[in-house]
Formats: sequence, structure tokens, C-alpha cells
Amino acid sequence: MPVSERRWPGGERGHGVVGYFQYALDLVGGNVALLFQLLPMTKGGHGRLRNKACPCGSTRKFKRCHLHTVENIARSIKPSHRQWLMQGIKDAGVAL
Ligand SMILES: [Zn+2]
Repeated sequence: MPVSERRWPGGERGHGVVGYFQYALDLVGGNVALLFQLLPMTKGGHGRLRNKACPCGSTRKFKRCHLHTVENIARSIKPSHRQWLMQGIKDAGVAL
């Protein structure tokens, strides 16, 4: 599936799957394990987690920590590309 450069949200970063990966990774400070945790939440349904501890391991509430990151990923990367990212991380065998 070709990635449309017109809709590319990542500015100067690379294009295609690698570019999406870099873009998403930048949003989580390069933490692949955290990205893997947050990606499923971009489908929605994370409202009940707003006042719980953020999954990143900080002691902050989710709504004051990575909720905006989840929303940012959801807004800027379409669902099919988010699926690729999940699968790509799995396929890469990244230690999570
Ligand atoms: Zn967090």
C-alpha cells in the first residue's frame, strides 16, 4: 500500500513505513515498548484510563501524561498505518 506523501504528517522525516515509524517513535521519545502499549489505545475506549496511572511508568495520571500522545497518533496516523506499526514492531522482535 503506497503512503500518500500529500498526507504525510512527519515533515522532514523519511517517507513510507519507516517514516511513519520514526514519526510515531518521536512522539514517545524513542520508546518502542511505550509506543507498542499506546498504539492499541489510539482506537479509542481509553476514557476510563484518564485518571489512572499512565502506562509509561511515570506516577502521573494518564490524562496529564501520554493521553495527548495517544490522541496525536490517532489524529495524524490513519488506522491502517497504525496496524502496520503494531505488526512491524512485533515482526521486528523488539524486546518489549
Ligand atoms: Zn506517560
